[in-house]
Amino acid sequence: MATLSEARFGLIVGGREEPGTNGDYRPVLDPATNEPVAQAAVASPDDARRAMEVAERAFRESPWASDEGARRSKALGKLASLLDSRTDEFARLETLNVGKPLRESRIDIAYVVRTLEYFAGMADKLEGETIPVPGARIDYTIREPLGVTVHIAPWNYPLLLAVRSVAPALAAGNSVVLKPASLTPLSAVAFGRLAPEAGVPDGILNVVPGNGADVGMALVDDPRCASVTFTGSGEVGPTIAEHAARRFVPLTLELGGKGPVLVFPDADLERAAKGVGYGIFQNAGQMCWAASRLLVHESIAGPFVEKVRSIAEGLKLGPGTQDGVEMGPLVSRDQAERVLDYVRDARESGGRVLAGGSKVETPPLSAGNFVRPTVLSDVPASSRAVREEIFGPVLVVRTFRDTEDAIRAANDTPYGLLSAVWTRDLATAHSVARRLETGMVVVNESPTTYPQTPFGGVKSSGVGFEQGMRAVETFTRRKNILLNVGAPRKKAGPS
Ligand code: NAD
Repeated sequence: MATLSEARFGLIVGGREEPGTNGDYRPVLDPATNEPVAQAAVASPDDARRAMEVAERAFRESPWASDEGARRSKALGKLASLLDSRTDEFARLETLNVGKPLRESRIDIAYVVRTLEYFAGMADKLEGETIPVPGARIDYTIREPLGVTVHIAPWNYPLLLAVRSVAPALAAGNSVVLKPASLTPLSAVAFGRLAPEAGVPDGILNVVPGNGADVGMALVDDPRCASVTFTGSGEVGPTIAEHAARRFVPLTLELGGKGPVLVFPDADLERAAKGVGYGIFQNAGQMCWAASRLLVHESIAGPFVEKVRSIAEGLKLGPGTQDGVEMGPLVSRDQAERVLDYVRDARESGGRVLAGGSKVETPPLSAGNFVRPTVLSDVPASSRAVREEIFGPVLVVRTFRDTEDAIRAANDTPYGLLSAVWTRDLATAHSVARRLETGMVVVNESPTTYPQTPFGGVKSSGVGFEQGMRAVETFTRRKNILLNVGAPRKKAGPS
């Protein structure tokens, strides 16, 4: 029997798993050791186009789109229960591929199950409207699926962020082509393998692992592409938007963030410190919505920052598969280098490192991409560590004088994904939440979301929202039908 490191993960096209046309496989590395954990096929642009062709044929010829929504609901429900029964297997794949602790991966898989269940419940609730019009006429709207929807996912929550848009697209009756990130294709391919058993017709759910610039772009540029959901960096997002715009293809962009967390003096400081720690060190800080800029009132800054610093220093680092580990490695050597580069830059511009700030250099962790949980203070507001998304376990601290100062600092960023506020005062919570320029605000919580709550950003964090009841509508178009039901006019003249 092949060990996991020899196991091959192919492309899922038309309900079958296969190698790409060029037969290329590449090793997928465990970030804790940089040893291979599996081999993943590398699709070519031709494979991408073939997946689009197969998906389009399935959309036209299978009963998926035209059937009652109840059939799609049943299939999505079955996908959820199949995944649920294999939580341990999928969580392990996610941990071996991304590095996060198994406990976090299990939470991710449970979230995917819940997402599938939520959208399974929506598949038969896509209703139109009737609209009053003059005379013997009836006007009504119906919602139709778009066709083949393209989904390009990042590496930090590989299955969760893929299914977040795939589930509503399937619920609406579309066929789907998913491209996982090239670093983390395993769980998406394993998910695609479940489709036939769940009763999803062949060709409705396709997965093509491969490089972004060629495979991802071939999907977006394909004339059969009817919608694009891109979750990824602010560098790639605009290129995707330009290409989609050439054919007026509807688009959702979920991009980066630089979330502020505002701590007021009346907050429950114990809970707030834990929330701040979780909001930046979970998944080793590789989160679009990481609360990565701590803004704390000057009257409590000393003791509060000390609490956060001791949380950072106390976290147990190690491979995600090991019991009791609280933070795993970063996804790749490059990502670890990129994060450390921000820390160097912050130091050089006068910043102080209160915790962490370095790679773990002692064996056995030195073989992996472990960066210590890091807290920086006194970093100039203009420095890269304050302005740019670091996407690692690095918290930047700044104090504020009063509410106006806090809001100004919070909004002084090109990003607008999520803000966090810690206060016991309802009036402060409400008024500050309204003035923060982000798509989401959490109060007295670390970043938290549910399949039923909208998720999205403003400013450079993206366009469009995912999750919630309206997400399914994103994957439909409205058609207006006007019916004249009047009796034919009687002809004039002798009867
Ligand atoms: P990335 O932009 O490098 O890649 C994202 C996906 O796009 C991958 O599948 C990649 O292969 C593909 N891709 C890359 N270049 C492409 C191109 N030219 N054409 C088509 N596809 C292309 O991002 P990443 O490094 O995988 O993920 C990290 C980024 O994702 C961070 O900026 C993070 O904030 C963001 N993110 C956002 C959200 C959100 O919901 N807003 C969630 C998670 C991650």
